[in-house]
Amino acid sequence: MKKSLQRIYWLSIMITLMITFATVIVLTCLKIDDMQSNLHDTLEVTTAWTLDSSSDLQSLANDIASLSSPMRVTFVMTNGLVLADSHEDSRTMFNHSDRAEIREALLGGVGSSLRFSDTESAFMYYEAAKISDNLILRLSYPINEITQLLVLYAVGIAALLMLLYRMQKRSFKRFSAEVNRQMNAIRDLLEGDNDETPQVFEELQPAMNGIAYLVRRLKNDLEEVKRTLNVRSDFVANASHELRSPLTSVMGFAEMLDEGLAETTEEQRLCVKTIRSECRRMLDVIEDILLLSKAEKQNVPQASDVNVTAVAKEIGQSLSARAQERGIALCIEGDLKIHAIEKDVWEILYNLIDNAIHYGRENGSVRVMLGKNAIVVEDDGIGIAPEHLPHIFEKFYRVDEARDARTAGSGGSGLGLAIVRSLAERNDAQISVESRIGEGSRFTLRFSQETD
Ligand code: ADP
Repeated sequence: MKKSLQRIYWLSIMITLMITFATVIVLTCLKIDDMQSNLHDTLEVTTAWTLDSSSDLQSLANDIASLSSPMRVTFVMTNGLVLADSHEDSRTMFNHSDRAEIREALLGGVGSSLRFSDTESAFMYYEAAKISDNLILRLSYPINEITQLLVLYAVGIAALLMLLYRMQKRSFKRFSAEVNRQMNAIRDLLEGDNDETPQVFEELQPAMNGIAYLVRRLKNDLEEVKRTLNVRSDFVANASHELRSPLTSVMGFAEMLDEGLAETTEEQRLCVKTIRSECRRMLDVIEDILLLSKAEKQNVPQASDVNVTAVAKEIGQSLSARAQERGIALCIEGDLKIHAIEKDVWEILYNLIDNAIHYGRENGSVRVMLGKNAIVVEDDGIGIAPEHLPHIFEKFYRVDEARDARTAGSGGSGLGLAIVRSLAERNDAQISVESRIGEGSRFTLRFSQETD
């Protein structure tokens, strides 16, 4: 590309030079032409004039020459002898019979010639005509001006060439630097070091914008894939961890029984009780995992009109024993009907109320408020610190296992709120939380549509 641009550059320089040269030639020709006709006219006028005068040829030559300076006037005999000259002493001048213009004039008409004159040390244009039987009048004109003009043009062209060469060098240097910059910007974009669209030549910018858009999209897709893979591997690690602890416990107690280490009936009963509760824990985790994977699947069950008040009351009934255990007053207020998946609404409410009882204040209260397209579950328990709030809907996220266990005996799997968020999303609802540590929490589920 650089080479072809260079070729175009030099071609344009050559064309410019040729046009300039042609202009100079035409101007020079016009100038010579002008001078010729001027000399010709003067010759015609003075021929008639000299025919009348027979007196002093030297002063006549001077008079004619004064008509158009720096014209030179010479009177030459037909045998070549110079009789008078306006610029030189005729006595010192050579015989002119061999001069081209004199020879032509002797043949009749006007003789002309263009040559270098030793006397004048310049290029001269000569015209001569026979004005009487033995006398020839010769006029000549120096063409220094034209020579000077040509030299000036030559110098000008040389200077122009130099200037063009320097400009060409500089502009190619700039062009190469710009191409390098653009290449680096494109490489940075492709390698992911820079997200911004590189600024390239105007004609290429639309294509560049398209490429940059595709690169950004690919990058985002790649990050999404990486994130999904990470989430998946985190999920597997967390799930394995959640199942391993109760399983280890089960193994331990089973071994104790097997090896007869639990001697008394009381000890044996305790082992069996622990094995059962640990199995229950494992079952809960597995159920949560299954629920979550179902919630994330694309085949969504049919939505219907759901009487949320009735669902809330039913859950209240099933959790009343746990609430009583902790001395918590559970109250359900308001009324709400919604178009959603009933099973999901049930699961969401169950998780939120269960958590509110779980993490609520002993002898405190849990309020479930229904209405205005929203479900609000509020407790006056331990609350959640601000730094945990953005994460509590993540899978397996637990604020503080020890704290959770202190508050309500044992913590859960950290999947409850992740299930709530997934189910909320597939029912077109938004879940949000407000909480203050030590004062309580308020979870709000806002649906986008309500039934009449
Ligand atoms: P878990 O099944 O362990 O309770 P969740 O996903 O339901 O898991 O909750 C995640 C974390 O959010 C829990 O570790 C708990 O500390 C906190 N949390 C949830 N609900 C409440 C609440 N009502 N009050 C205080 N903390 C809560």
